[in-house]
Parts: sequence; C-alpha cells; structure tokens
Amino acid sequence: MQHPPLDSIRNIGIISHIDAGKTTVSERILFYTGESHRIGEVHDGEAVMDWMPQEQERGITITSTATVCRWGGCRINLIDTPGHIDFTIEVERSLRVLDGAVAVFSAVEGVQPQSESVWRQADRYRVPRICFINKMDRVGADYRETIRQIEEKLGARPVLLQIPSGAEASFAGVVDLIAEEFLTFSEADQGRIVERHPIPAEIAEEARAARETMIEAAADFDDAILADFLEGAPITPERIRGALRKGTIACRIFPVFMGTALRNKGIQPLLDAVAAYLPSPRDVPPVIGQRPESDIVDTLLCDPAGPLCALAYKVQSDEGRKLSYLRIYSGTVKAGGALWNSTRGCFEKAARLFRMHAHKREQIDEALAGDIVAVAGLKEVLTGDTLCNPTHKVILEGLTVPEPVVALA
Ligand code: GDP
Repeated sequence: MQHPPLDSIRNIGIISHIDAGKTTVSERILFYTGESHRIGEVHDGEAVMDWMPQEQERGITITSTATVCRWGGCRINLIDTPGHIDFTIEVERSLRVLDGAVAVFSAVEGVQPQSESVWRQADRYRVPRICFINKMDRVGADYRETIRQIEEKLGARPVLLQIPSGAEASFAGVVDLIAEEFLTFSEADQGRIVERHPIPAEIAEEARAARETMIEAAADFDDAILADFLEGAPITPERIRGALRKGTIACRIFPVFMGTALRNKGIQPLLDAVAAYLPSPRDVPPVIGQRPESDIVDTLLCDPAGPLCALAYKVQSDEGRKLSYLRIYSGTVKAGGALWNSTRGCFEKAARLFRMHAHKREQIDEALAGDIVAVAGLKEVLTGDTLCNPTHKVILEGLTVPEPVVALA
C-alpha cells in the first residue's frame, strides 16, 4: 500500500466563533480538493461535515471527525473541531491531536468571544495557526479592524500575506503579496479557476507597504532576507515562504489570508497556505509517554518503525457500532492486530481500519505514525485512552504542552 511521505501530511482543524463560517470553509475545502462534488448549503441539514443526526437537527457542528483530502501534494486530515460554546472540552480534546489550525474570523464581527477562547486553548497547546478573514463580501467587512483585534484581543502578531481589492459587494479578489499578483476567482465551475493578473494600480501603493511589512516579519526568521531587502537585492518567493513557515511553526507569527467562502473566493490560496506554512507531524515536538508502573519515560518520535503509541481522541457510535478515531504518534497500527489499551489495562483488537472521506470510508490495511485513522472493533476504548503495543506498554498522560521545535532567531 502506498503511504505518502510524512512531510506531506497535514493534521489540521478549523477553529472559529460560531457563525464565522467554519462549516462553509470546510465545505469549500472538500469541494476544491475534489472530495465533494456538490456544494450544499450549510444549514439545510446536508452539509458534508455535519453528518451526525443531532447536528442535522441542531444545525451546529459537534463531532470531531477527521476527513481526508488532498491538495498540492499534501494529504490533509481535516479534523472537525466543534464551534459551539458548550463543547469547549471537545475543542480542547481535538486541539491536542492537531498539528496546525486555520482560524476563521468574520470580517464584519472580527474577533468574537468564542474565537478568543479557542485561540487561547490553541496557544496552550502551541498549535501553529494561519488566519482566514471570511465574509469579505458582507456589508461592513473591514479586514483592518479584524487585524487590529487579532493584535489587541489575542495579543498575536498577524502578518498579511494578502490584501483585498474592493470590499463588500465589490470585493473582487486578493493581491498575493509574495507572488505580487492579483488573484480573482472565476465564476465558472464555482470558482475553481484562479486567474492571475497584475496588481491593480489603485491598490499598488497599499500592496507595496503591506509587502514591506511582510518581508520585515520574514526577516525575523532569516537574517539574510533583511540584508537583501535593504540592498534591494531580489528575494525569491521560496525564501520568503521558508522564513514565514519557520515563524508560523514557532507560533511567533500568524499569516493572514482572506476571502468569502460563501462566494467561493479565496479558498484555493488558503489551501496552498495550509501546505506551505502549517507543519507536518514531523515538524512538531515528539510526545512523551510513561511506562506503566515504572518511572521510565519514552520520547515518542513520529516514526512508523518506532513503538506503537496512539491516542483515541474521539469515540463515536456509527450505525450502532463503535468507531474510534486514533491519532498515531509513533509506530504502525495494522488491521486485525492486537493492541494494548494501557489506560484500561486490557487487550483490544483493531478489527478494521478506515480512512474517512467526505462521502465514503476507505478500508485500509495499516496506518502509520503521523496519521489519523478510524478503527472499528475496539470494545473497551474510551475517549482519551492510549493504545500501544502489548510488548512495549506506554501511556500518554495529559499530553504535555510541547516546546517549540524551531530554533528562534
Ligand atoms: P459556522 O457556524 O462557523 O460553521 O458558520 P457557517 O459556515 O455555518 O456560516 C454561518 C452563516 O454565514 C451561514 O448562513 C453562511 O451561509 C454564512 N456565510 C459563511 N461564509 C460567508 C461569506 O463568506 N459571506 C457571507 N455573506 N456569508 C457567509
């Protein structure tokens, strides 16, 4: 079976205040990655991510399922984090298994209370984030005010990688400040096609200033960039991206993108950004496991050949059967294999393994470190349990808050 290289996996979640557009953004991501061929309206009970019956009744997203999709050579595991205030514990649980997140804000409402609390939770787990300012088409949309609130309310350092052309009904597209191009999203094929143009003259000055600020931010993570910039030497897009990626993974900066999910504008560059700036499982710190009844502590590297260690972060009933979602930190889970549930002290059988797509489940033979997999057949497991190899027992207890891995300037 073909496994993608570890570096190409992105385990991400979308976090936001309710109504900011998390479901719409998720829907569009699944659409543009080809996982969903029809765009459903989110509150008509047909949205792809909201497939639990309770959600259909209540019209809110409450599960933490993982849907796999592909973009730009990456396998993206989209972990659905709940947005409603009642489910903060669930948000926290799912944040533990994310390597990165997209924080969605409404350009009209800015940083709302729930985005603030989930942002703080993400700070605790040091989850690298990129920001998407949604609803740029709505009356009152003001990306500058949202940026100001990200700075003031969240105490974070947003870095614009785009600026818009037009606002509200005349929102036309975004300037890509790295490529120095103006992107529009064709009406054809529901906006799948991105068209590239020169930067419009009326926003050229604003783009130049925003680009300068962006390069100053990049220079904090790559000294040579600043020198080249001051000398007027060319700086390749790859170098700028590399520096911004470093700063993002260290949670020092938060790249900002914008658009309108409802009108299909801005999602493709957001997907490119997930691939470019958010970390792979290999870029995040290893987890720490404790050997039961001993003082031995294991540092579990993201290595498929290492000792098996997985966290059951979500257990749900699926057509009357138990389906457990595992984040595998180390080792390999094989279909039909025996696992040791070190939280409950019992054997379990991973009867069948699935990769969950938006509309189908794909049965697989094995899943490796760094991945997320749904497992049928685990009888005793509860959310939060550690699963490992019976010959190498280890338990993940209250996963430690990781230190940043990137060496800081
Ligand atoms: P969630 O609660 O964060 O998942 O938000 P939803 O995705 O359900 O969106 C909340 C409401 O905002 C829905 O009525 C969407 O149709 C609407 N919406 C989402 N994105 C946009 C957008 O870009 N522009 C406008 N005008 N409305 C949007």
